[in-house]
Formats: sequence, structure tokens, C-alpha cells
Amino acid sequence: MSRGKRDSNFSIFEIGDSTFTVLKRYQNLKPIGSGAQGIVCAAYDTVLERLVAIKQLSRPFQNQTHAKRAIWELVLMKCVNHKNIIGLLNVFTPKKSLEEFQDLYIVMELMDANLCQVIQMELDHERMSYLLYQMLCGIKHLHSAGIIQRDLKPSNIAVKSDCTLKTLDFGLAQTAGTSFMMTPYVVTRYYRAPEVILGMGYKENINIWSVGCILGEMIKGGVLFPGSDHIDQWNKVIEQLGNSSKKLQPTVRTYVENRPKYAGYSIEKLFPDILFPVDSEHNKLKASQIRDLLSKMLVMDASKRISVDDALPHTYINVWYDSLEAEAPPPNILNEPPASIKKAQVFIADSSMSEIHQELFSCF
Ligand code: AMP
Repeated sequence: MSRGKRDSNFSIFEIGDSTFTVLKRYQNLKPIGSGAQGIVCAAYDTVLERLVAIKQLSRPFQNQTHAKRAIWELVLMKCVNHKNIIGLLNVFTPKKSLEEFQDLYIVMELMDANLCQVIQMELDHERMSYLLYQMLCGIKHLHSAGIIQRDLKPSNIAVKSDCTLKTLDFGLAQTAGTSFMMTPYVVTRYYRAPEVILGMGYKENINIWSVGCILGEMIKGGVLFPGSDHIDQWNKVIEQLGNSSKKLQPTVRTYVENRPKYAGYSIEKLFPDILFPVDSEHNKLKASQIRDLLSKMLVMDASKRISVDDALPHTYINVWYDSLEAEAPPPNILNEPPASIKKAQVFIADSSMSEIHQELFSCF
């Protein structure tokens, strides 16, 4: 149970072991989730008169990677405006001076659940294809700004009961041409594309692999490639899909070629009829369309994997196609970057912790 205390501008809520110090306009805080950066609460915003989500970035300056993630997430959320990407409503810190500045609060639209919870449900084709379509629209929009979200996973995708979907996390996103987020960070291994597992270079369709894993998980109701460590992750992939891919860099070739040979299974074996509702011709057709799409997404060789642009018109999802959503103009990040983006890019590239600290504080 959370308990609210009061001072002049802020209310203090004890949420489990954490203390949330939030602007008084936010009331009735309740924990709804937690991620790498901190706890997320639902709250009532008395100004907007609606429920919101408040994420506490607790001590984002504990190390360089956390600090860079924080500034990057904030800057991106400020610039991106698309119905399938979570929107920023407010940002604040309770501290008045740079010396005291520790915690940062991000206020977002409130969603009902994340995809982990939805995967447990029996989804019909209509819902499944709509969720998939929205995931791809959000990804495409980020791609249009040169942002490649490398950490796509069910817990980073939020949904509402009306089946609308938004991508939540920019933590590991990276703009093309910059390398500041290349440092290894703890990410969920199961959705990693082969090129990431093998430490090879990657391009935009890296997250099509993750979408394929998520779609497959929705059908199976369980993780497709549940690797227990880095090497086991690769083994889980090749056991099911086979290891015939030849297009590997010399540095990884020896390791990969020393693995036992697996022929892999056909897409029909991996996703048999029994996993789909098959009582109508309509559902049989849909199942074969999903298999077709999965067989194009779960391709080890990235150069042969489908792109987001080509996946969007696929027959399984094209019923939802709306150019306003699928071809929304790029976020204002590359065209005329606001000063904050320019600053962020420069700072994130090679700034010291105290400079990032100062820069973030200047956002308020
Ligand atoms: P994150 O720190 O962004 O990875 O979020 C951690 C968890 O908090 C997510 O997996 C969601 O379950 C939940 N969450 C984050 N943001 C929201 C939001 N805007 N609405 C609802 N739940 C959220």
C-alpha cells in the first residue's frame, strides 16, 4: 500500500522499498511494473483529469550507461509523436539544485498491461494481426528517424484493453551513424537476432527478428528460443531453424562452424495446425498466412530477412493498413533537430558523468 505525505509542492509516496516524490497534481500512486531503470506507478493526474503512468528513474547517475539511457529516453520521448509509441506527458525532479539532483520522474500515457500478460491469453487472428500491425507501425516510425530499437521484447510493449499497442522503451535505441549505445547492456536474450548473438554488425531488420519471436510466442504461448546463456541462445536458435547460414564474419565463423550441425524444422513442424484454431476455412487461411510471415521473419541471414516495409503489406495484416499510421512523417529528430537533440547527441557520445548530470538537470 502506498502512503502519501505532503510538503509544499510535492507529495511523498512509499512504494514498496522506494520513495516516490511527485508533484502534488499526481495522486493515488499504485505500482504497476518495474524495469532496468526503476519502478513504474499508475497515478491520477488532477490537472489533466486522467490516469497516467509515472516512471521513476532512480539514481540514473549511478553509472555512465544508466545516465546515457536516461537522457536518450527523455530526448526521444520528447521528439517522437506516434500512436504506437508511448507519449511523454511531463517530466520533473523534486530537487531544486544540481548538487541534490538524483531522481527523475517521467510521466506517460497509462496503458493496461504489457505484452507478457497478453501472450498468456488465447488471441484470435483479428487481435493477433492487429497487435502485429501496430508493432510494425511503431518500429517503422522509429526507423524513419534512423532509430533502431535493439531491445524489443514483450515487457517493452504495452497494450490497452481495446487492443491498441505502444512501444514503451527507448533505452537501447540508437540513431544510425552513432555508436554511443553500442556498449553491452543487460538485455533479454530470448529476442536477440542471430547477428546480435554473434556480435556481428546489424541493420534495421534486427527488430523484425524480435517481432517474429514475439509473434511465435503469441501462437505457442511460450518463449521460442529460451536460451539459458549466450551460447545456449545460439543453440536454441540453430536446433530449431538449422545452421546452414553461410554469411558470417570470419571472426565468428570458427565458433559457429564448430557447433553440431542441425537441419532444423520446417515452419509447419515448428507451428503445427494444433496451435491454431482450425475449425473454419478462414482460420486455416490465417494460420497459413502467419506461417508464411514467420518464415520470412525468423530468417537467420539478415540480408534475406523481410524488412518492416515489406512486412506491413503482408496479407496477414494488410487489412489494417492505414497510410497515416504506417507512413507517418518522421519524428522531428533528423529534419530540424531541436537544440536538445543536438546537445544530447554530442553529450551522449563522449561526455563525462558530471556533464550528463548537468545537462539533464537543465531540462527542468
Ligand atoms: P520500463 O521501465 O519502461 O521497462 O517498464 C517496466 C514495466 O512497467 C513494463 O514492463 C510495464 O509493465 C510497466 N509500464 C511501463 N510504462 C508503462 C505505461 N506507460 N503504462 C503501463 N505500464 C507501464
